[in-house]
Amino acid sequence: MANEDWIRKAQTLAIQFDGNAAKHDREGTFPFENFEALKEQGFLSLTVPKIYGGHEISLLTYVRILEILATGDGATALGLTMHLKIFGSEREAKSYPEKWFEKISLQATNEGSLVNTAATEEGLGSPAGGGLPNTVAISTPQGWRISGKKTFTTMAPLLSYFIVLARIDEENDSYLANFLLTREDKGLMMEETWNSLGMRASGSHDIVLQDVLIPRERLLNKRRPGELDKRSGSGSAWFALGVAATTLGVAQAARNYAVEFARERTPNDQKTIKQFSGIRNRIARIDLLLHRSRTLINDAAESWEHRDQAREKEIMQPINKVAITKIDTINNCIEAVDLAMRVVGGVSLQKSRPIERYYRDVRAGLHNPPIEDRALEQLARSVLDS
Ligand SMILES: Cc1cc2nc3c(=O)[nH]c(=O)nc-3n(C[C@H](O)[C@H](O)[C@H](O)COP(=O)(O)OP(=O)(O)OC[C@H]3O[C@@H](n4cnc5c(N)ncnc54)[C@H](O)[C@@H]3O)c2cc1C
Repeated sequence: MANEDWIRKAQTLAIQFDGNAAKHDREGTFPFENFEALKEQGFLSLTVPKIYGGHEISLLTYVRILEILATGDGATALGLTMHLKIFGSEREAKSYPEKWFEKISLQATNEGSLVNTAATEEGLGSPAGGGLPNTVAISTPQGWRISGKKTFTTMAPLLSYFIVLARIDEENDSYLANFLLTREDKGLMMEETWNSLGMRASGSHDIVLQDVLIPRERLLNKRRPGELDKRSGSGSAWFALGVAATTLGVAQAARNYAVEFARERTPNDQKTIKQFSGIRNRIARIDLLLHRSRTLINDAAESWEHRDQAREKEIMQPINKVAITKIDTINNCIEAVDLAMRVVGGVSLQKSRPIERYYRDVRAGLHNPPIEDRALEQLARSVLDS
């Protein structure tokens, strides 16, 4: 299917998602019907390689589609980002045994199975910090026995596969390892703990692992702490830009709401508010911020796709473009939604209006990697220490 067809389909789905977004946000429920629609329309295999029946879309098309879907429901688009980024990045990094990549790819294509990483833990904080998780995998004659607890596992109510980060202790060495777990594995349980300010419908619950015994071959990869993660560049590009695009979609929805409002709101015996210079100025600033973010995202996606060409490295390394695009987009979008709230005025605080949800959802991207300080340090390092 041509990219333009996917984009048209995404626009239709966004309208559909928008219809239920307020209810799921209010009740903190998971939008199962949105994922059913995504499955029916083929979106769950968008980034899966063609050899496994997928559509193998480019990074650039991926960010466009995510932005559109997020205008309908940010939480659904964020969940989809987490699933699709696994295939997009693994297509490039090839860090998993092919057998398992083939398995999760075919399942996504043929059955609409969802996969996500379960890496974060309460004690560990963000795994991007490089610390060792408390979740531990012990080698036994029967296979790996895994125990621990994961927090923030997006789409937990519907995931078929969990890529679990665990520690392996071997004699004097500890390793960071990723394992493939399935929903059917005995001892894997979801605790419905997710009750958050934003992205309330993302189902980012805890996952408890109680002596989960899995075959030895389900170890996907392992490395020493501090060693380069084979997935890191590609993982970063597909994840950070996906999060940026999702955040941009949420901010775009807030902008659209504010523009409609400004065109129509006419207080008694007053002018329509769009005539006031403060309103005009804010709307223009919102569009400037969103246009800047979209341009950065597209540029970083193209640079990443052409990262092997010398020209792409001349001014700034593609991976650094990805990092600063992510942090600048999140900051721009938070500012844009704040401006949209000011345009709408006092009623922007009302729970009956979607704009207060955008105001909460737009913040979530701040807390997904790379965080601002790490992204800036990455850039500083390549400028100052290389
Ligand atoms: C909506 C949402 C969905 C998510 N989904 C998933 C998921 O599906 N799977 C998953 O594994 N995780 C998921 N996460 C978790 C996410 O990836 C982070 O691990 C989590 O938000 C904790 O990150 P943190 O930086 O606040 O943690 P911490 O490491 O505890 O950091 C706490 C604070 O210290 C700062 N800090 C920490 N280290 C440094 C440093 N070196 N330099 C400067 N500042 C530092 C951080 O910026 C932060 O302000 C999700 C998070 C959100 C918000």
